[in-house]
Order: sequence, then C-alpha cells, then structure tokens
Amino acid sequence: MQIFEKLAEYRYEQLVFCHDKATGLRAIIAVHDTTLGPALGGCRMYPYASEDEAIVDVLRLARGMTYKAAASGLNLGGGKSVIIGDPRTDKTEALFRSFGRYIETLGGRYIVAEDVGTSTEDANFIRVETGHVVGVDVTRGGSGDPSPFTALGVLQGMRACVEEVFGDDSLAGRTVAVQGVGHVGYHLCRLLHEAGARLIVTDVNASAVERVVRMFGAKAVEPDEILALACDVYAPCALGATVNDDTIPRLGCRIVAGSANNVLHEARHGEALAERGILYAPDYVINAGGLINVADELEGYNERRATKRVMRIEDRIRKIIAISKRDGVPTNVAADTLALERIAAISSMERLHTGHPYGQLQRRRETI
Ligand code: NAD
Repeated sequence: MQIFEKLAEYRYEQLVFCHDKATGLRAIIAVHDTTLGPALGGCRMYPYASEDEAIVDVLRLARGMTYKAAASGLNLGGGKSVIIGDPRTDKTEALFRSFGRYIETLGGRYIVAEDVGTSTEDANFIRVETGHVVGVDVTRGGSGDPSPFTALGVLQGMRACVEEVFGDDSLAGRTVAVQGVGHVGYHLCRLLHEAGARLIVTDVNASAVERVVRMFGAKAVEPDEILALACDVYAPCALGATVNDDTIPRLGCRIVAGSANNVLHEARHGEALAERGILYAPDYVINAGGLINVADELEGYNERRATKRVMRIEDRIRKIIAISKRDGVPTNVAADTLALERIAAISSMERLHTGHPYGQLQRRRETI
C-alpha cells in the first residue's frame, strides 16, 4: 500500500504505528484532522486478517469522526485507533497500558475512547498511563453508559424531522417503528412512550421485545415486517445498511431517524430516499449523543451540561434540513456540508500571534 498516497487522498494529518514486542501490542492510531480541536475517537480491537485491512479501517473511521464531531458542534477533531488482536483472548493489562503510553507520546493530539472490542475496564488501564482517554469508570470521573444519551439525541433529531414533515414537533400520536430494542432502542422506546408516541417494535431477541411491550405498551412484529409497515418514523437501532436498493421501494415511513451507524448502504441511497419523499436524519449527526456525552469528560463530567448539549441535536438536524433545501441536495450530503463549512470557517480564522508557535516563542523569550 502506498501510505502517503492514501493519506493525501483525504488529507490525513498523521498515522502512528505502535509496536511493543513484550506485550504483543500492534496498534495504529489515525489522526485525520485537528482543525477544531484534538482528535477524539474510539479504539477498536479486532483480529484483522492483514495490516492493510487494519490501516484502511482506521483511516475510514478516523475521517468519519472528523465529520461527526464537526457537525455535532464539538470542538474536537477526528481520530481513531485499532489494536490488531482478538478481544476475547488477547487482552491484558500490560497491552492496554503499553497502548496508553503511546497515546501519551502524542501529547493530547489524540484522545481515545471505547469502541467495538474495547471496554471501560480497558480504558481504566489506559488511564493509568495517560490523561488523554475518555469513557473511564464512573468512579474515575467517567460519564457511564452512553446509550441513554444516544437515545435522547435520536428523540430530539426525530422531533426536528417530524416538525419538517408534519408541521409541528410533537411526537404525541405519531407511530414510530423501532428496529432493535437493545441498549439505545430500549431507551428510545422509553422516551417515545413518555412523549405519547405509538410504538411498533422488533428484535431478534424475544426477551428484549417482551420488555418494551410490557413496559411501554409497544406492539411487536416480526423482524422482516418492520420496514414495510405504514408509520410516521422508521427508527433503525440495530444494524447498518438497512436502507438499500431492495428496501427503499418497500419503506412505509415518512421519516428515517434512528441510532444505527451507516444506515444508508451507499451514499446514493440518500438521494433515492429524497426522491421517494422520505426525510432522512443523517446517522452520524442524530446518533452523536453518546459522543457528546463522553466528550464532556474532558471538562470534568457534568450530566446536566452534557444533557443540554445532546438536546441541541434537534437544532443540528434543523440546520441540515435547511442546507439540504438551500443547496438542493439530500440530507446526507447536507450533513457533510455542515461539517466542512464549520471546519473551513475555523481554519480560515486569522492566525493571531498569541496562538501561533511564533507568538509562544516570543512570550518565552520575554520571560527569559
Ligand atoms: P445493542 O447490541 O445493545 O442493540 C442492538 C439490538 O438489535 C439487539 O437487541 C439485537 O438483538 C437487535 N438486532 C440485531 N439484529 C437484528 C435484526 N436483524 N432485526 C431486529 N433486531 C436486531 O446495540 P446498541 O448499543 O443499542 O446500538 C444500536 C445501534 O446504534 C448500533 O448500530 C450501534 O452501532 C449504534 N450506536 C449506538 C450508540 C450507543 O450509545 N450505544 C451510539 C451511536 C451509535
């Protein structure tokens, strides 16, 4: 692989290879863009079949975080890391502490969090070696389970969509079809129930379904029935790529708004949804509640402040809808525009001497 060519393609700032023979650590950290602030992103642990596969994955994920943080209004850049290994068999305290030391060498340019294959316990080990980690244990200043915050963000984003389509943002009496009632889906059902919405749910896990039927009066359907149901909102909270060539003609909803990542199988499916008159809330913006919540740890975690920030997802979705109309583009493209416009505005700010390395050099001279 021509790595510099790959980095140039999407203007990656940095790719760091971390190797520690003693602990078996083989990790890669990708810093995509730090215009808005330090690059924050999770560490994925996965038994990648090849180094190329790991590099491609970490680069793709890091770039996604730049857009997510920028569109969510966070003062953070985009980064991600991967540890090559099997999370079921290869985890040790020494491995994560070794990784923590590498993160420390970056001096705060990259802040690590949990991702697929890593946990709060692993973050606690990393925390021993570096302060540049979030998602640690609640007893160490952590923000706890992100899923209630992700669900709250989805609810707020849904309100903006409902307002656009039906003229007011009330969810009372609206029918929402929730696909997947796991961590996020459960909390979303709770919030929708409190807001007076009618719930139709599905999950491959029967006891998860039974819980929301019992607690929130949801109606249960089979997994293959949920997409074609006549409803106001389809909320994908299980898998990615459920909006594709096969499903778009069958969708029975007016709005697609859920927590799942990569809801659109391909970017062109955003256009196809718009053509069918279905409003799509871009996944990486509407599901950013967990990220906004965990990022709050950087200021000393405050649940009330984090909740307020998550609630602003409603406004972010409104802005995206406005850009979509302004530019005549589907909402998934408008979300990217929102992110890129913010990055461009900040990077074009005047470089004042106080913030410039030269300014710092001068200040140091003055104190000598
Ligand atoms: P989860 O594993 O707790 O829940 C997913 C649920 O979907 C499970 O109950 C599972 O049984 C069900 N499911 C799997 N296949 C299904 C199918 N074919 N049909 C119906 N249900 C099916 O995961 P989660 O943490 O609730 O996350 C849900 C989605 O939201 C994921 O795509 C995740 O990447 C995304 N997400 C989650 C968070 C968060 O804070 N947890 C943040 C951002 C994005």
